[in-house]
Amino acid sequence: MLALVSAMQEELSAVLALMPDERRERVAGREFWVGHLHGQPVVAVLSRIGKVAAATTATVLAEHFGVRQLVFTGVAGGLGAQVRRGDVVVARRFVQHDLDASPLFPRYEVPLYGQAMFPTDAALTERLVRAARRALPGAGQHEGLILSGDQFIDSASEAMALQLAFPDALAVEMEGAAVAQVCHDYGIAYAAVRTISDRADDEAHGDFVSFIDQVASRHTAAIVEALLAAWPGGPI
Ligand code: SAH
Repeated sequence: MLALVSAMQEELSAVLALMPDERRERVAGREFWVGHLHGQPVVAVLSRIGKVAAATTATVLAEHFGVRQLVFTGVAGGLGAQVRRGDVVVARRFVQHDLDASPLFPRYEVPLYGQAMFPTDAALTERLVRAARRALPGAGQHEGLILSGDQFIDSASEAMALQLAFPDALAVEMEGAAVAQVCHDYGIAYAAVRTISDRADDEAHGDFVSFIDQVASRHTAAIVEALLAAWPGGPI
C-alpha cells in the first residue's frame, strides 16, 4: 500500500476529496484514512509538525499499515537563490540541520547510522518529478537537498547561516529528514515534494499563512492526482 502524508490539514483535505471511499482508523492518537485514489489502495494522514511527530506517524504507517511506499507532500521555505515562492522542490536527499552530537560524531551525522544524508528512493522520486511537471507546468521545478529541523526559519540571518552550512540546499522544512530515517529503517520507498511557501526570511510567516490559504492544497491535490493517474497496476 502507498501512504500519502501531508503536513497541513488543508492539503490532507484536498487529498481526501480525491478519495471516494475513505474510512477512518485511529492509531496513536492520529486519524489515518484508508481507501483508494485512482483505484490504487492508499492511506492518507497528517504527518503533524516537527521531526518526532512525523517519525511517529511514519512508524505507524510501517508497523500498522505495512506501507511499502510513502509520498510526502508539503510546503517549505526556499533557500537556494533560484528557488522562488510557488516553485516545486522534489527531494533527492535530506539532512537534519539541527542535529549535532559532536565531538562524539561528526556534526549532522545521525549517531550509529554513519551518515548525515538520507537519500530518497530513485524510482519513486522519478515518478514524482514527472507528476509534478505534468501537474504544474508553469511552476519552477528543482531537485536536490532539503534540510529539516525543529524550527520554523523566519529570519534572513538564519536562512543565510543554513545556506553557508549547506550551499546546495534548496529548501528547509520540519519533517522530511525524520521520515527519511524511518523509511530507511523499514526499507520503505520514500519520495517527497514541497512547494515553496516562503523564503525562510523576515517575511516568512505572512507568506507562509497566505500560501497555505490560497495555493498549497491546490498544488498538493494536482501533484497527487497526476502521480496516481500514472500509477502502474503492479508494485513499483
Ligand atoms: N502552525 C504554524 C507554523 C507551521 S510550521 C502556523 O500555521 O503559522 C510550518 C510548516 O511548513 C512545517 O510543517 C514545515 O515543514 C513547513 N515550512 C514552511 N516554511 C518553513 C520555514 N520557513 N521553516 C521551516 N519549516 C517551514
